[in-house]
Amino acid sequence: MQGIFLIPITKSSLDVATFLGFTLAELFGVPCDIIEQDFSIAQHYNSERRQYHSTEILKRLLPLAEGNSRQILGIIDVDLYIPILTFVYGEAQLGKRCALISIFRLYQQFYGLPEDETLLLQRSEKEAVHELGHTLGLPHCQNFECVMHYSHSVEYIDIKRNVFCPDCSRMAGFRSRWR
Ligand SMILES: [Zn+2]
Ligand SMILES: [Zn+2]
Repeated sequence: MQGIFLIPITKSSLDVATFLGFTLAELFGVPCDIIEQDFSIAQHYNSERRQYHSTEILKRLLPLAEGNSRQILGIIDVDLYIPILTFVYGEAQLGKRCALISIFRLYQQFYGLPEDETLLLQRSEKEAVHELGHTLGLPHCQNFECVMHYSHSVEYIDIKRNVFCPDCSRMAGFRSRWR
């Protein structure tokens, strides 16, 4: 991985993007920069589902990957879906460079609980690393503590760590940070 461009697609995802800019640069050891892009996602809204089509928004990020060699990570705060699932926390192109995460369901308030900024940032970081892992060609991992484990709910996100397990590290060509 050469670097990461973070795209806060919705205004309120800028704070999370700023945090991820620091933490992902540290975790992956690559430059991380925020690009503020103004594109409307209104046409990707499905009024029956009251959600936005994840794959369509992900496609909008593709042109940003042209002309550079960095991974592109979009950050959004609306609820995302793909037709076969009730919702998704994010989506990525396996082995390609674009990924998208939604922080909509990562807020404690979504579950009727008091706000917890630290927990929101921790969850966002894990989901970001997870989707970026897919862009590096990593599939889901059986190890429930590995960041590449598939999360059905936030409880699963909270159990896992923010790093690749030794097997996933090896597969992605990273030195393992698993302790
Ligand atoms: Zn996944
Ligand atoms: Zn793993």
